[in-house]
Amino acid sequence: MAATSGLEILEPSIFERGAPGRCGMDLPDPGRDARPAIPGSLLRKRPAALPEVSEVEVVRHFTRLSRRNFGVDLGFYPLGSCTMKYNPKACEEAASLPGFTGVHPLFPAALTQGALSVMWALEEALREVTGMAAVSLAPAAGAHGEWTGLRMIRAALRRRGENRTRILVPDTAHGTNPASSSLCGFQAVEVKSSEAGLLDPEAVARAMDGDVAALMVTNPNTLGLFERDLPRIAALVHEKGGFVYGDGANLNALLGKVRPASLGLDVIQLNLHKTFSTPHGGGGPGAGPVGAAPALEPFLPVPRVVRGEDGSLSLSEDFPDSIGRIRSFHGQFLVLVRALAYIRGLGAAGLRRVAEVAVLNANYVRRRLEGTYHLPYPGPCMHEVVFSDRRQARAGVHTMDIAKRLMDHGFHPPTVYFPLIVSGALMIEPTETEDKATLDEFIAAMLEIAREAEEDPGRLHQAPHRTSVSRADEVLAARKPVLTWPERGESPS
Ligand SMILES: *Cc1c(COP(=O)(O)O)cnc(C)c1O
Repeated sequence: MAATSGLEILEPSIFERGAPGRCGMDLPDPGRDARPAIPGSLLRKRPAALPEVSEVEVVRHFTRLSRRNFGVDLGFYPLGSCTMKYNPKACEEAASLPGFTGVHPLFPAALTQGALSVMWALEEALREVTGMAAVSLAPAAGAHGEWTGLRMIRAALRRRGENRTRILVPDTAHGTNPASSSLCGFQAVEVKSSEAGLLDPEAVARAMDGDVAALMVTNPNTLGLFERDLPRIAALVHEKGGFVYGDGANLNALLGKVRPASLGLDVIQLNLHKTFSTPHGGGGPGAGPVGAAPALEPFLPVPRVVRGEDGSLSLSEDFPDSIGRIRSFHGQFLVLVRALAYIRGLGAAGLRRVAEVAVLNANYVRRRLEGTYHLPYPGPCMHEVVFSDRRQARAGVHTMDIAKRLMDHGFHPPTVYFPLIVSGALMIEPTETEDKATLDEFIAAMLEIAREAEEDPGRLHQAPHRTSVSRADEVLAARKPVLTWPERGESPS
């Protein structure tokens, strides 16, 4: 076993369990005729070296491992920019109704009116939330939505006979923004934020010329601050013939308060797996619908849900200016069901309350911790707050140490070292689903860690102390990952 990565599981693997001849269940031999006819050339020459284990061993092994996972159903998960909120189980229930799980994308429209009406109603709700003219539910993730929106911008520019090559991206942007820009064939150009951590109209005016296709902007930005000059900035971009792309991955703070379209955005993607009740962080699936203002609506991907004169719904590809299909079939349907259940369950007043409590919670954490942790951009925040390790760093304690120590207190660490413009960033997003008692426990842990940083910094360098896996050597784990389990008796390479 590699003794140095810190990632080793301190108990036998499933391959080390069991004994020859053990098995979970003995099925009767179905007889020669019932066996699938696999050509002899494809049959194994030697039996696979599979573990021979009983059913109870397997169940206990994987249940034990699963209990080492941390999830939002287990505790506070303030991972900034990720909106790890608790998702109502009623939304899961809706998504598991057999009428939804059993529907096939190749069924004719006559048999899928229910599924199509979910899509129609969700598009309508997201139009209301964003103020956009039309919505496509097709993109499968936030970054996929960004890429879709940028392709729509490129198509609109080509239609005008223009071949602009650059996208302005603020230095606070999520990494997917420059990545989507380059995947779309644009060059991302960084725009520096002002001292207040906001996009500066003058900086945008200086960077804006006839070669800039769009400004990509996140509001609230990743410092958790509201871009209050956005309407003026959008006007500047439009004046020079550019578009404004809105990264709406984290819409918690704006729900029912601000319609992004009213700030001058031409296209926006929403992450249903952050704001709208699909659990986020398990690697998918997600959904990143895009909303478009009238100027970009004709370019939305197909198929689109349309309503015929007789009131029936169908999917149509009859949109000549569309950028075309962007994926197989019609979006991550069950994620769409959850989002609609969530929106209908809360109603307009409930969505507004989400925004109010999300912002209140972040500001409560900010006020309670700003005397102890350095707050690089002072003043009220939106749904998340970004601290830095500057004060603790004087004692040699850094963001990583603070994050690891939080695990000993039973909390998932916040997002660390992002946004990049804050050195040693700790980006905390409490979300609206946490109560004051939980926030108080988290705050107490953060204050305790700050005290420990002064009194016993060494203890923080070794943290976490109480988890089943100790601190990993992340460099070694990345450079020399151990990805296979060795045969018995062999040591991993
Ligand atoms: C999460 C996030 C994205 C990317 O969304 P994915 O679904 O992970 O592709 C983009 N921008 C911001 C601001 C985000 O927080």
